[in-house]
Amino acid sequence: CGIVGIVGNQPVAGRLVDALRRLEYRGYDSAGVATIHDGAMNRRRAKGKLFNLEKVLDDQPLDGAVGIAHTRWATHGVPNEDNAHPHFVEGVAVVHNGIIENFSELKDGLVADGATFTSQTDTEVVAQLIARHIRQGLDNRAAMLAALNEITGAYALVVMFRDDPGTIMAARFGPPLAVGFGRDEMFLGSDAIALSPFTNDIVYLVDGDCAIVHRTGAEIIDFAGNPVERPHQISQATA
Ligand code: GLU
Repeated sequence: CGIVGIVGNQPVAGRLVDALRRLEYRGYDSAGVATIHDGAMNRRRAKGKLFNLEKVLDDQPLDGAVGIAHTRWATHGVPNEDNAHPHFVEGVAVVHNGIIENFSELKDGLVADGATFTSQTDTEVVAQLIARHIRQGLDNRAAMLAALNEITGAYALVVMFRDDPGTIMAARFGPPLAVGFGRDEMFLGSDAIALSPFTNDIVYLVDGDCAIVHRTGAEIIDFAGNPVERPHQISQATA
């Protein structure tokens, strides 16, 4: 229900949880955070309030200057730790707001191909699709676009790749998603309020946009891969 991502130059786990707290007003039943550090992708997830996630992070901290985080409001699959985002398939991590309408037919095809699902969510099909495309030889960007052209429904998606800690990809079709431009750091969030401690320089994605976000900037393309231009806005949200 709430999404945050940071491609940073300093530790992100604490800042991701702080940003999730600014999205609590949307409601949620579980939460999770994932980072990449020294070539490994790790996550912590917890059912219930952010306090529970913070307790897990206190016991088992996450290092890393790139990460994604999510507060979930379950639509497919009960609220529990396995169904909490981020969802991992091989080296791909996904957080998602919304509903993938055609997830069950996509899941049938993936299972027939030998995929093993570890959650009951509609979201996991996105991670499975991207991972399969990468396995079949596409690069991360092409795999992301291929998956976006397969799914239908409403989504804000943020995707992280273990083999490319300098990049986070995002896509919007329905739920809002904002790109925040910082000083040598870049941010993604469900709204500018979540990002206001970091930056007021915001670009809102439009339905059908895919953002390729690096530490020093973002490239926005449509789902066919063509570049699109979106205006910067100065958010009035205050930290
Ligand atoms: N449909 C997804 C799920 O049930 C995402 C729900 C949300 O927007 O938080 O996991």
